[in-house]
Amino acid sequence: MTAESAQAGKEAIGLVLVFTGHGKGKTTAALGLMLRAHGHGMKAAMLQFIKHSRSNFGEHRAARLLGLEIMPLGAGFTRTAKDIEKSRALALQLWGIAREKLASGEYEMIILDELSYPLQYGWIPVKEVIEALRSRPRGMHVVVTGRDVPTELIEFADLVTDMHVVKHPLKKGIKAQRGIEF
Ligand code: ATP
Ligand code: MG
Repeated sequence: MTAESAQAGKEAIGLVLVFTGHGKGKTTAALGLMLRAHGHGMKAAMLQFIKHSRSNFGEHRAARLLGLEIMPLGAGFTRTAKDIEKSRALALQLWGIAREKLASGEYEMIILDELSYPLQYGWIPVKEVIEALRSRPRGMHVVVTGRDVPTELIEFADLVTDMHVVKHPLKKGIKAQRGIEF
């Protein structure tokens, strides 16, 4: 806990939040929380499981400007068996880093962006994730994003928001817009 949050005089209750569903807004909602926490002087990190390590979207640029920690460690678009093996190895590497950060007591918020995919593929056992969350330091918030989060993790979470698609511009052929999609 930082001096500032300790000064607030209230012990934080660490929550597990899940942003899931097939509608847009999961990662950006998590980024919003990160910004909010940063404003309180809380130490936060976002670990990105799918985005390529060279990703330079608006949020990665803003992170450098604001001193936010965002770590993308995916292989990006994967098609061949070799790519998939590389994605799996990177996901396991990032999960190793995530576990260390979860246990370190240094952070007040950890965001595991797109964690649902390595869970679905069976690369990371969901039991291992729940165990790491259960034994994390008190007061640490953890956010998980991605489509189709496993039921066990939904049950374990304190807050779950399911984003539904009502409309998406891609459906009418409008391509990804800067500041909206990247
Ligand atoms: P964002 O990062 O914008 O908050 P997200 O995290 O909810 O989106 P992901 O499931 O991670 O979305 O998908 C990544 C990309 O796919 C986003 O750019 C998003 O706009 C796009 N996308 C999400 N939902 C849909 C959909 N229903 N149809 C088409 N594209 C979608
Ligand atoms: Mg996302």
